[in-house]
Amino acid sequence: MTDLPALPTVSASDEHPADAAVPTRRMPPRLRSAWRRTLLAQCGLLLAAIVAGIAIGHVGAVLAAAALGMLAWQHWRLRRVLQGLGARQHQEPGRGQGAWNELDRLLHRSRAEMRARKRRLLEMLRAYRAAADALPDAVVVVDRNTQRILWFNEAATGLLGLVHPRDMGAPVAECLQPLALARWLAAGRRAEPILDAQAPTDARLRLNLRLIPYSEDHWLLVARDVSKLLQLEQVRRDFVANVSHELRTPLTVVHGYLEMLDPDEFPEWRPMLEEMQRQSQRMTQLVEDLLTLSRLEARDSLPEEPVAMAAMLATLKREAEAFSQGRHTVELQDLAGCDLLGSTRELHSAFSNLVTNAVRYTPAGGTVTITLARTPDGGAVLAVRDTGYGIAHAHLPRLTERFYRVSSSRSRESGGTGLGLSIVKHVLGLHQARLSIESRVGEGSEFACHFGPERVRTRHDEAAPGARPAADAP
Ligand code: ADP
Repeated sequence: MTDLPALPTVSASDEHPADAAVPTRRMPPRLRSAWRRTLLAQCGLLLAAIVAGIAIGHVGAVLAAAALGMLAWQHWRLRRVLQGLGARQHQEPGRGQGAWNELDRLLHRSRAEMRARKRRLLEMLRAYRAAADALPDAVVVVDRNTQRILWFNEAATGLLGLVHPRDMGAPVAECLQPLALARWLAAGRRAEPILDAQAPTDARLRLNLRLIPYSEDHWLLVARDVSKLLQLEQVRRDFVANVSHELRTPLTVVHGYLEMLDPDEFPEWRPMLEEMQRQSQRMTQLVEDLLTLSRLEARDSLPEEPVAMAAMLATLKREAEAFSQGRHTVELQDLAGCDLLGSTRELHSAFSNLVTNAVRYTPAGGTVTITLARTPDGGAVLAVRDTGYGIAHAHLPRLTERFYRVSSSRSRESGGTGLGLSIVKHVLGLHQARLSIESRVGEGSEFACHFGPERVRTRHDEAAPGARPAADAP
């Protein structure tokens, strides 16, 4: 495998901060004294040559000979330095005190430091590579501009089928062909993780893919094997679905018999019978909601049909009034004049959950308003507003979790299962819609379902074919 493309570098100033702080124009004392020593020795030699020249009466000749000798010596030292620099083998610096020996020592020291730095960098590189290779996740370094593979670890061979050296430098989308990644890669920084994709190497392996832009020019494509996780998730789903399914029949029987027992015939058992009926009703509702959730979770999409919203809104209003039994005012605002595209049955179940919640969590005398309106982007929003208890801000992010309740006692008293908003979230997800919640304690709440423009249809006449009234929804 080739080297990793981008590694941290170690600069000299990182290693010798003290050296970096020394001003460049000033010579360290040790060097200065060596330089002075050499200068003095040369001046001394020239002086001695002059004295000797005077003594023998040939000052010029002796001085010239001394100067030539000195020049020859300098050249010889320069040659040694150059030889030392060019030599691959390690050479001990000279032991003298002069400037040339100091230069020798300095060169020797900087070469030794450079070698040590190189060794450290190589060790770091090996450690990085070993760490990347030891990762159980496939890691692929991709050049951002060309979208070609620069490097990949060993796991990429097992999970993505990349082969070294064949796929080095090849376009990543082509190498991972069955995954159809071209559009995903084009999204770049905005690419959402792919949560479940089939591995190109083995149809039984499921992968989670992420694109991480870690520098201007490089991306990391990380693929994680999530087969076991998805399998466990499936086991959990199956378990909940099976338990709910198995409980359904015995509960129906118990509930049926309890219904047959008229408390008026057994006045002394009345409180017990009424409580038993209430609880069996609650359990039946719980099982039904769990089955609904399992059904929704098992689907990737829903059958689509035009949803007649005028009929749907009328049904919701009727249901709210029936549920409220005259304790609340229910208002309807149909401002959109459009229909939706989706599953009438599931949308009815989601909207109905919001409406019954609004009635349940609003004290008598309050108002529940159901509004259908268009949004500026051409979409539509169905909002259910109430003047009820409201919800503290801290609870809002967790409200759609299963069995999350702001007040368990209030929820149970009003017959809640804790699954209603979870069902709403799933239904909206299957319609690429989202739920927004705004609430103030003591003032009320607004739960709004936002649909994109692709879900909006011009309203059909209620009698027109295909416009199934929501009241028919199961
Ligand atoms: P539940 O069956 O308990 O109502 P949901 O999932 O429908 O379960 O709602 C979760 C929790 O959110 C409820 O227990 C309640 O505390 C809170 N909640 C939902 N709707 C409203 C609302 N309109 N006003 C105040 N609280 C609400």
